[in-house]
Amino acid sequence: MTDGFISCPKDAEPMERITLGTVAIDRCPACGGVWLDRGELDALRRTLLKDEHRATLDALDELGTREPDERPQPLLCPRDHTRMSTHRHHAQRHIEFDTCTKCGGMFFDAGELSDLTEFTLFERIRAMLPHRS
Ligand SMILES: [Zn+2]
Ligand SMILES: [Zn+2]
Repeated sequence: MTDGFISCPKDAEPMERITLGTVAIDRCPACGGVWLDRGELDALRRTLLKDEHRATLDALDELGTREPDERPQPLLCPRDHTRMSTHRHHAQRHIEFDTCTKCGGMFFDAGELSDLTEFTLFERIRAMLPHRS
């Protein structure tokens, strides 16, 4: 399921594979968005406990060049083309991400992924997910 390259759900650019520690994630070179397959968020957080990888992730987020979109239409899952659900979280800082209820994949806009290095925020996001794995 994690094999093969996918297109960005926002702008259809082919996403590039980036390896953070032991986790391979897909990142859009155009908008800086990041796609995580089901289970990769947990794997990523374990990886992010190491400071060297955290710095890499921060650098990735800095490459984002676009302002957040208003999202007039739901995004479509790049793997199975299911309409994705948008989740917003406003407790401490703004964060928004999209999940696919079919395959459990998640899409983060540029600049959002580094927020996941904050443990409490990660746990809140996890609680918001429709699937527990
Ligand atoms: Zn993109
Ligand atoms: Zn999907």
